Amino acid sequence: MSHRLPACPPALPLVCLFLAAASIASLRAAELPRPDFPAALTETVEMLRGFIRVDTVNPPGNETRGAVYLKAILDREGIASEILELEPGRGNLIARLKGNGKKQPLLLMGHLDVVGVERDKWTVEPFGGVVKDGYVYGRGALDDKGMASAFLQIFLQLHRLKVPLDRDVIFVAEAGEEGTTHVGIDFLVAKHWEKIACEFALNEGGRINEADGKVNYVAVSTTEKVPRPFLISAKGTSGHASRPRFDNPIVHLAAAIAKIGEWQAPMRLNDTTREFFQRMARISPPAEAELLTHLDTVEAQEKLRRHNGTFYAMTRTTLVPTIIKGGFRINVIPGDALAQVDVRALPDEDIGRLAAEMRKVINDPLIEVVAPEGGRPTATPSRHDTVMFGALERAQQRLFPGAITVPMMVVGATDSAQLRARGVQAYGIGNIYGEKELSGMHGNDERLSIRNFGRFIEFVWHAVTEVAAAH
Ligand SMILES: [Zn+2]
Repeated sequence: MSHRLPACPPALPLVCLFLAAASIASLRAAELPRPDFPAALTETVEMLRGFIRVDTVNPPGNETRGAVYLKAILDREGIASEILELEPGRGNLIARLKGNGKKQPLLLMGHLDVVGVERDKWTVEPFGGVVKDGYVYGRGALDDKGMASAFLQIFLQLHRLKVPLDRDVIFVAEAGEEGTTHVGIDFLVAKHWEKIACEFALNEGGRINEADGKVNYVAVSTTEKVPRPFLISAKGTSGHASRPRFDNPIVHLAAAIAKIGEWQAPMRLNDTTREFFQRMARISPPAEAELLTHLDTVEAQEKLRRHNGTFYAMTRTTLVPTIIKGGFRINVIPGDALAQVDVRALPDEDIGRLAAEMRKVINDPLIEVVAPEGGRPTATPSRHDTVMFGALERAQQRLFPGAITVPMMVVGATDSAQLRARGVQAYGIGNIYGEKELSGMHGNDERLSIRNFGRFIEFVWHAVTEVAAAH
């Protein structure tokens, strides 16, 4: 379709300039082809159902199966792609649409592997790709096969509609996100960086929040906490349980864990969380807004701790004891006992200093606190003043007017950490859900609303084309 600029009478140059500018704007909007969204949704739902049926439970992973499944879809479209494996069966899929090279690439990333299931607690077959009551059920529907399918759909549409691109768009479906990143993102970053190098990345980690049938905010994650599993061990003298001992490791470990469970690391906000709480206050009822704008009071902290675990976890490094082991017979005092503490550190946490602090809190010479080495890297948060963040914000205004976009810190962990550590501005986005769907992630009866999925695909389309399409 082409639009002709209105003819310009010589007496009205200013008005004409304005008209011309307005026409150019509408010309641009009109020139960009638009997918048939309902058809795209139908296709994506079928793609996702097939994808759920491909078993990529990690462990063991078998992600190559998923990579082959998605590759076949790309093959049918005539889009070249490749599967890269560090270990047999642990494939990563990469494809690229070429742009004119004016700008650095945009990466769309979703992971192939899923966590296991408690099969007897599901009401449907978790690997059946079942559609029921407007939902797609199955392991991975939300985390992360839904996202990968949506990104693949966007990628296919860019190709089919021959959208001219100012930057390459790269599609990656990676292995090992659920706990074995060495075969996935770590491998890609270390060995194939040139294939995924980009300025911006969209990945899992955010959400579009719906309450009472209305979207009220779009959370885009710009940073995340880092998992740092600590070991706490107690050593004593083993012996007969008929003779009590002061160095009984069971007693010492129990006391140490009780102290760690009660202790709170100091509250500390960063650029992302400060902005998050400020913006959330704007859409919250007065009492909650008051709370969110005065987080530094003891009372507010205690309220969050008791009633909003997610917000609480965004204010500080958290320490959660999860495993405790010791002893093997009722009449034997064991020589040692061991506990694990799931520490989720703020991105800038000094782990050595945290370990020292924990030792001080425990205050027991029989207890050893072992800080972890390695793990996901820390990085500066992605900025919320980039064209990518702006495009997500404008896509939100277009599809969910009246809502707001908030930068967020993920309290879990994603593969964006590795990208940010390489200087990529990586943004976590996510489907539309209420609390119920959110709890389905890694839970039983994981399911994705088809109607919401359609709106999500449209949202991503607008953000991606604003950033990547040539204008
Ligand atoms: Zn995930």
